[in-house]
Amino acid sequence: MDFRDSPQEAAFRERLRSWLSLHAKEFSSSGDEYWTRQAEWHRALYREGFFGLSWPREYGGQALPAVYDVVVDEELARAGAPPRPSVGYLVYGIGRHGSDALRRRFLPGIIDGTERWCQGFSEPGAGSDLASLTTTATREGDNYVVQGHKIWTSYSDVADWCLLLARTDPAARRHRGLSAFVIAMKQPGVQQRPLRMMNGVSNEFGQVFFDGATVPADRMVGSPGDGWAVAMTVVGHEREPSTLGYAARYNKLVRTLLARHDGSVTEELAWAAIQAEMLTHHVRRRLSEQLDGVSHGPEGSLDKLLMTWVEQSVGHAALAVGGTHDPDLFSAYLYSRAQSVMGGTSQIQKNIIASRILGLGV
Ligand SMILES: Cc1cc2nc3c(=O)[nH]c(=O)nc-3n(C[C@H](O)[C@H](O)[C@H](O)COP(=O)(O)OP(=O)(O)OC[C@H]3O[C@@H](n4cnc5c(N)ncnc54)[C@H](O)[C@@H]3O)c2cc1C
Repeated sequence: MDFRDSPQEAAFRERLRSWLSLHAKEFSSSGDEYWTRQAEWHRALYREGFFGLSWPREYGGQALPAVYDVVVDEELARAGAPPRPSVGYLVYGIGRHGSDALRRRFLPGIIDGTERWCQGFSEPGAGSDLASLTTTATREGDNYVVQGHKIWTSYSDVADWCLLLARTDPAARRHRGLSAFVIAMKQPGVQQRPLRMMNGVSNEFGQVFFDGATVPADRMVGSPGDGWAVAMTVVGHEREPSTLGYAARYNKLVRTLLARHDGSVTEELAWAAIQAEMLTHHVRRRLSEQLDGVSHGPEGSLDKLLMTWVEQSVGHAALAVGGTHDPDLFSAYLYSRAQSVMGGTSQIQKNIIASRILGLGV
């Protein structure tokens, strides 16, 4: 594959670069303020024609090749701007499994950022073993009534909607009894409580209590019992670093560290630089495959594991260079710890690689 820009891509890159030179700083805050302004950032990117590029036009996308998303990721990282909003898991989850009516109602607001979302999968007793979740949705007339407790729900404080996984058939075994819903967060019977992260951010995620909340039956994504399939589509998309965004970001941090180090931490820095470069090549290969129409299943676990290793190597190098005194570098280190947990832990990725790629009997 030729990675040089075509004339159209080069013109797009130039327009984006000049917009970012004027506006990236407005949004490049850290900590709680970043999360507060995330919706504005999403809408600004969309309004200027820099978001939702590869998604279908009928839902507000531009139906461009995925390579335009790569250009966006590279330029955002270069400008030190916040990353592209990560709503792809919703677009693919609802896009693949939802009815026409659900797709028409919800995809445009997800893509243009006018409606905020969260993902209600994990529970205090069901994280890695998601199929053991106990939140129930019980049919009553035209509605389902939801009872249960979700945790680690990113953006739950600002979300209008939640992609919820709940048990609709208590008699069916584990994942067979699960269904997915689009449920309104702003209604009686839904309570959200924030959780403070170790980097001090207190409004990135929370726990959500459902106590008699209702959801119309036609807001089920797919059919009763399809919840597991929806969840697998969603986590599959969360695990792929199918764009260069993360790799570009890690390389940028490595360059910052190289410019600032005093020569005493060469080994950590060299390792971080090699890993970030390795991820760039790996993701480029994935991108070539994607443009050739190859889609991956369990290989997403390899990508997630590699990305975690790289983020944590770069995080260690940031700690080695900045210690605990530089807030941005220390925050990069602290956040890197979450990468081996969110979207499925590293141990779970290794189990998937062992059983589904290597065919080992685990
Ligand atoms: C920043 C962040 C954002 C998140 N956002 C969301 C969100 O928006 N929505 C949502 O639903 N969830 C979210 N999560 C939750 C995340 O998906 C879970 O934390 C994750 O799946 C692990 O579940 P757990 O925390 O219950 O840990 P556990 O499953 O209890 O695991 C504890 C430890 O045991 C290990 N372990 C468990 N089972 C096995 C096994 N079979 N083999 C080997 N080792 C095993 C794990 O690897 C881990 O080290 C988020 C998490 C983080 C950190």
